[in-house]
Amino acid sequence: MNHESAVMKAVEIGSRVLAPSAGQNDRAGRFSDEAIKSLGEAGLLGLMLPADVGGGGLGPRAFAAVTATLAEADASVAMVYLMHMLGATAVASARPGAAQALTPVLQEIAAGRHLSTLAFSEAGSRSHFWAPISRAARNGDGVHISAKKSWVTSAGHAQSYVVSTLAPEGASPTDSTLYLVAAGTNGLSVSGPWDGLGLRANASAPVLLDDCHVPSDFQLTDDGDGFPVMLNVVLPLFNLGSAAVALGLCRSAVSGTTSHLKNAKFEHLGKSLGESLPTLRAQLANMQIETDGLSARIDDLVDHLEAPRETTMLRVLESKAAAGEAAISVTSTAMRICGGAAFSKHLNIERLFRDAHAGAVMAPTVDVLREFIGKSLLGIPLF
Ligand SMILES: Cc1cc2nc3c(=O)[nH]c(=O)nc-3n(C[C@H](O)[C@H](O)[C@H](O)COP(=O)(O)OP(=O)(O)OC[C@H]3O[C@@H](n4cnc5c(N)ncnc54)[C@H](O)[C@@H]3O)c2cc1C
Repeated sequence: MNHESAVMKAVEIGSRVLAPSAGQNDRAGRFSDEAIKSLGEAGLLGLMLPADVGGGGLGPRAFAAVTATLAEADASVAMVYLMHMLGATAVASARPGAAQALTPVLQEIAAGRHLSTLAFSEAGSRSHFWAPISRAARNGDGVHISAKKSWVTSAGHAQSYVVSTLAPEGASPTDSTLYLVAAGTNGLSVSGPWDGLGLRANASAPVLLDDCHVPSDFQLTDDGDGFPVMLNVVLPLFNLGSAAVALGLCRSAVSGTTSHLKNAKFEHLGKSLGESLPTLRAQLANMQIETDGLSARIDDLVDHLEAPRETTMLRVLESKAAAGEAAISVTSTAMRICGGAAFSKHLNIERLFRDAHAGAVMAPTVDVLREFIGKSLLGIPLF
């Protein structure tokens, strides 16, 4: 697989599997198992895994392009894909002591038979995912974990969860450890429904871990090293992927709005909306400008991730903040331009508008990112 073939596969799955059922799945809050099956069969679940476990061996550039392409068709599925890729990356970068036990998991992911996800956020620390309230307790060969994980994308559908929890002897609120918890582990259950405003088809439900035993082979980081992995491995890819989801939403809003402006008519004038009203054309132009600006920002972030330098973390922080705002702005303008047709849900624009609002809520939230950027510019420690 190379960059072009990966994107072509995403385009094909987007138009054949995702787009036709996106509206229905959104209304029903239905998780698309067939979308995940297609992504698995196409090899896209293992896109970034090394070739020696059967993965595609591709990097952040392909990941961003595939995620944006999927989001154009269905942002719920794109978010499932994003959280899976983060889970897979966390497993692939596990400490050497766990590598042997985890190889079969990576092979299953690459073969398209294993969906993973992140279970970081907890009810107690809300959006401050870097500070879990739960704490692992040592128990024979491994640990026991009890935790109230809130908002776990793909809850009940994933085969594994990358779980954060305080290290047994951790002293500070960020002394966490990451574990891989198999879906069938005794004590793990989906503890509530998912009925969000947007991204309704991605099953971001709460998950309860009640005294779950996790063997030491499935401990992904050394004790207390969860936080640096969250910050240096997971966060850059999460922010890139979130920006890519936002880009897909913006592109879809531009194309949906363009099509409405071409097709909706003022019959008494004998002209389309787009031909009749310069104000709508100007607003559409603004949508396009913001969308292309976001695309350029994503390219810039990819450059920084491929060749890390002093400004890389700043770009990581800026990208998700800017993307979240851009998606809300572009889809809000689309709602305004498409007027009653969007408001009365005759177009998919209102789904895009609702989906776009998730980006700002998902941690690190836009507010927190601004706070981090401001602090880092002033040389104030972030934590
Ligand atoms: C669709 C969706 C999918 C998700 N999937 C996952 C997942 O797979 N795994 C996972 O671990 N989590 C997931 N999350 C959880 C998400 O990352 C957040 O942890 C969650 O949304 C908590 O939000 P909250 O509003 O309760 O946070 P709160 O902390 O209550 O935030 C409330 C408000 O306070 C602001 N705020 C908080 N702290 C600060 C600060 N220091 N400075 C300035 N403002 C601040 C926030 O910006 C927000 O506006 C998901 C969330 C959503 C919406």
